Amino acid sequence: MPEPVVGSTADGAIGGTGAADRTTQGTGGGAPAGGPRLDQVRRLVTEVPGPRSRALLARQRDAVPAGLGSVLPVYVTAAGGGVVVDADGNSVIDFASGIAVTGAGNSAERVVERASAQLARFTHTCFLVNPYESYVAVCEALNRLTPGDHAKRTVLVNTGAEAVENAVKIARSATGRPGVLVFDHAYHGRTLLTMAMTAKNVPYKQGFGPFAPEVHRAPMAAPFRWPTGADHCADEAFAQFAYQVDQQIGAGNLAAVVVEPIQGEGGFVVPAPGFLERVFAFCRERGIVTVADEVQTGVARTGDMFACEHEGLVPDLITTAKGIAGGLPLGAVTGRAEIMDAVPAGGLGGTFSGNPVACEAALGVLAEIEEGRLVERAGRIGAVMLARLRALAERTEAIGDVRGRGAMIAIELVQGADDPAPAPETARRVLAACHAEGLLVLTAGTHGNVLRFLPPLVIPDHLLDEGLGIIERAFAGL
Ligand SMILES: *Cc1c(COP(=O)(O)O)cnc(C)c1O
Repeated sequence: MPEPVVGSTADGAIGGTGAADRTTQGTGGGAPAGGPRLDQVRRLVTEVPGPRSRALLARQRDAVPAGLGSVLPVYVTAAGGGVVVDADGNSVIDFASGIAVTGAGNSAERVVERASAQLARFTHTCFLVNPYESYVAVCEALNRLTPGDHAKRTVLVNTGAEAVENAVKIARSATGRPGVLVFDHAYHGRTLLTMAMTAKNVPYKQGFGPFAPEVHRAPMAAPFRWPTGADHCADEAFAQFAYQVDQQIGAGNLAAVVVEPIQGEGGFVVPAPGFLERVFAFCRERGIVTVADEVQTGVARTGDMFACEHEGLVPDLITTAKGIAGGLPLGAVTGRAEIMDAVPAGGLGGTFSGNPVACEAALGVLAEIEEGRLVERAGRIGAVMLARLRALAERTEAIGDVRGRGAMIAIELVQGADDPAPAPETARRVLAACHAEGLLVLTAGTHGNVLRFLPPLVIPDHLLDEGLGIIERAFAGL
């Protein structure tokens, strides 16, 4: 059972700012400077969710459609560093970062400063009507930071799905070909085209068809569940991919291959080493545009600025979104100048795309990453998590696999030591136990049997350790 910190009480009324929860206490051991101003403690003063959150949830049920779920329905009044504070005064440890968004911190100092100043200057012009410098500065930064030293261009959009849609538009325009190839377990978004590109039916696709045509799917080189074993995975998956492209689709009909360098919603599947390198080389020979969907993996999350760097991959196009602007809506497509420039004037853009407040937030995020050395910090978080979770897996039959890189780590749950069948029910029980103890974690995976951990890169060491302890106790209590 959790041990509430005695003497801490909830602040303010529902809908308040939570300002009284902001203290000037530091971030605690290990966290980079310039971090959060919230007390960096786990503190449970009610059950989770508490009475105020439950009252708000009742209002939500009358006002918001049932199709919107919540992983943990505690209503947030403040968040920063490694904690999320709710309307009842509970402070839970954050192993989610709003799905890999607030890596550089929630309301991080430089994000707040830059975005607030921009709010006071102007909130919108539409870049297609009157441009502004911050948009160009974000594009210059992404051109510089993404893999490859060729000439690049970047276009800004609002979401990850929109970034993927635009990457496909650009690849089609540049090649004059219609087809798109994606992989098993892929997640690319919820719009019509990206739903078609996403692999998992329930809940993302069921009932929402008909889907966009010309989307093909090949097996992912997923080592843990490869039928003939992990050693054969890269070779056999590549052979199957090459056969599909050359014999079934026809390379001349394929505009783009779109792939997550580590799959996100699909369960943090790390492709077998060498697989992506061979896929990219194959595409290069055939004039197929390679698109790395780094919406979840990008922007320091995996211990590199971009996950592609780990294997030295240089994609033609790269999509980013989640972590780029600290939660303000911003996405981007960055890529080879000659491909990006293939779209005629007027073919790209949107009313809100590259909003000036979001652009300033992105510049603040990039400053936080650089000054807080958050790429290295992500690597360190990964080392700590992998060591603890691999030791846990040694003594826990329900854990079949531990994988991921940097601050993007998952464990896959199975029925037992001799039965690798997926165990989504175990995942749900561990998730519930973690939530009850004040640790926010997420599930993932085609079978719903993966627990994924995405702590903010600014989480202090003591909260990272405490969170891992909660996971260990949750398994001990199964
Ligand atoms: C989340 C995600 C998307 C979709 O991003 P949205 O901003 O939710 O539209 C696309 N690709 C990947 C890899 C993602 O993780």
